[in-house]
Amino acid sequence: MTSSAALEASRQELVALHLELVRSGLVVWTAGNVSARVSPDTFLIKPSGVGYPELDAASMVLCDLSGAVIEGDLSPSSDTAAHAYVYRHMAGVHGVVHTHSTYATAWAARGEPIPCVLTAMADEFGGEVPVGPFALIGGDDIGRGIVETLQGHRSPAVLMRNHGVFTIGRSARDAVKAAVMCEDVARTVHVSRQLGEPLPIAADDVDRLHDRYQNVYGQR
Ligand SMILES: [Zn+2]
Repeated sequence: MTSSAALEASRQELVALHLELVRSGLVVWTAGNVSARVSPDTFLIKPSGVGYPELDAASMVLCDLSGAVIEGDLSPSSDTAAHAYVYRHMAGVHGVVHTHSTYATAWAARGEPIPCVLTAMADEFGGEVPVGPFALIGGDDIGRGIVETLQGHRSPAVLMRNHGVFTIGRSARDAVKAAVMCEDVARTVHVSRQLGEPLPIAADDVDRLHDRYQNVYGQR
């Protein structure tokens, strides 16, 4: 069971992470959301239709893994069913992010995976950023498309066709980082392609880069 102090800290972190989406230029108006698993069977998510500057800790909505509200005065994000489906089917996931960030969503609109042509992509995504199926909002279709695409894939990001980006992480912060990195590489590879055809990275080099970044890089 999550203590009330831990839950309050998660609420505050979630507000800060939404502001990170704004600061990183990934969202306009209210179109983007972050959620955080706070116990094996509950998660916090953004309230629906509330602008980022108005978000505060108390406005975050606590839901169970069916997407039903446990605690909160506001309705949860219209993407709650998709987040809930991911938490139900991927036990190691503790954060989910959804955005319509411009460059990544432009790839999604073409239904085209972002090819792994940057070492930063090998690091973070372990290969291409894959495309998930077209799915209408409401029900489990979006969640199922996310899970089916990301299970057995090293990428924490999926481009849902004609829609936008969903990312997962071992924490909500990791999922936000993946969303920021996804938009960054989507932009760079797009720019590269304006001037020619980006060069692929050999599969074994992708493996080595990914392994090093995931297991060695950073402060230990
Ligand atoms: Zn969306």
